Amino acid sequence: MPSLLFDNRFVRELPGDPEQSLRRRQVHGALYSRVVPTPVAAPHLLAWSPELAQALGMEEAWVRSPEFAQVFAGNTLMPGMEPYSAAYGGHQFGHWAGQLGDGRAISLGEVVNDQGERLELQLKGAGPTPYSRSADGRAVLRSSIREFLCSEAMHHLGVPTTRALSLVGTGESVVRDMFYDGRPRAEPGAVVCRVAPSFLRFGNFELPASRGDVALLERLLSFTIARDFPELAAAGSPASPEVRAHWFTEVCERTARLMAQWMRVGFVHGVMNTDNLSILGLTIDYGPYGWVDDFDLGWTPNTTDAQGRRYRFGNQPQIGYWNLEQLANALLPVFADAKPLEAGLERYVEAFNLATRACVGAKLGLRQCTDDDLRLMGDLQALMQDAEVDMTLFFRALGEFDEAAPRSPLGAEAFYDPAKRERAAPAFADWLERYGARLRADARPVHERRAQMHAANPRYVLRNYLAQEAIDRAEQGDARGVTELLDLLRHPYEDQPGLERFAGRRPDWARDRAGCSMLSCSS
Ligand code: AMP
Ligand code: MG
Repeated sequence: MPSLLFDNRFVRELPGDPEQSLRRRQVHGALYSRVVPTPVAAPHLLAWSPELAQALGMEEAWVRSPEFAQVFAGNTLMPGMEPYSAAYGGHQFGHWAGQLGDGRAISLGEVVNDQGERLELQLKGAGPTPYSRSADGRAVLRSSIREFLCSEAMHHLGVPTTRALSLVGTGESVVRDMFYDGRPRAEPGAVVCRVAPSFLRFGNFELPASRGDVALLERLLSFTIARDFPELAAAGSPASPEVRAHWFTEVCERTARLMAQWMRVGFVHGVMNTDNLSILGLTIDYGPYGWVDDFDLGWTPNTTDAQGRRYRFGNQPQIGYWNLEQLANALLPVFADAKPLEAGLERYVEAFNLATRACVGAKLGLRQCTDDDLRLMGDLQALMQDAEVDMTLFFRALGEFDEAAPRSPLGAEAFYDPAKRERAAPAFADWLERYGARLRADARPVHERRAQMHAANPRYVLRNYLAQEAIDRAEQGDARGVTELLDLLRHPYEDQPGLERFAGRRPDWARDRAGCSMLSCSS
């Protein structure tokens, strides 16, 4: 067993719930409850992240040992671990939902590694907690595979995210009614170990605020600034109005940049409730998320949101802002006045526009992105949406565009419908003509532009149907598909000879299949 250095500041410095039982309850005056994971029958390692194991100083031989599976299924605690579940609330689908909390997440502790990085380890699916409400605290294999793979895929794409160290099968089954249609079935269970500097969400701040517990909110805010924003804490006391103003602006900017990144790669979170937004600007809580295949700003993978489509692809930046407004409301009692909060929200808009400009410039391979270029991108997106064009394939193909021969056919494999392709051909040719002219005005060496574009337009993303194929295999007892995808997605911007099939269009069979184009919150 490696010796990990734990420095559990959250439970050491902040007030916890005096009761130590799993009884479901409302927890007041405390930011967490101490909870021990509930053991499972037969833990076995299914997949793991080599980079994270290394960052934690874990040797491969140990990761593959039965002891590792025992620890990361929640059966054994390592020395220094002090498990707890956090109390938080949240606005769900636009409405205040009261106390939610870690209903199936249990943090084991905060490791400080030999680089001085803080890595909190958190099990998801390790059994009930005081916050489990009417649910069981467990997670099924399919959703655990999706969380494990997407956490790592996002990291390698350069999108801020929580990470995943391991995926451990429990040897127990979990009953779920996947489509809420009264047909529950037993599914294999699993536990993912997530890793992040902090798992704090907007909702951790909203809960004490909703109860008028200003003292508790005050403590959480000062703690967060001191532990998670050391560069701000270095500039003054976490209690000072200036530092707090900077902090809120920083949260707004990080959220803005995250939204621009999601739009760049075609990621749709699916459940952007305020309890699912990280205070560090990380992608967190991979549930019914999806990747855009054919470009469609109106698309949502979440069947629970099919009516209002609140969390559709193109609405994510607006929702980021709305969520920050809820956070600002919660913070008002610990800010002397509203001005710095309003200023932070204004900064969100500027930071989003700036980050979007950078992403659009990089996706199109431009030195500078002007207002005209934003329009050029907008026009392209409208064409893509109209003609049902695969986002990932098209942008990757655009990197191969030859401005000396602008009428050459481009990205034929990116079109889902031959008839629509034919109909849209003249419009695409016009657009490519404009694009060619724009590139000639830039007069850049082709290799330079291509390198920029290939670093912004991934070749491989975790297409929903690819995850589902790996899930189908794993449910049959063969988890190698998970590791294959993980290996592929560790280098998303590189062409990987022999692995072209993972870059292809979504096949027809996957168009309307559960898990491939539509997902429920049941997990
Ligand atoms: P989500 O929509 O997955 O972010 O979850 C919303 C809330 O429900 C959070 O408080 C979760 O911890 C809780 N929750 C979701 N699934 C379960 C489960 N199987 N057992 C206990 N709590 C759960
Ligand atoms: Mg959640």
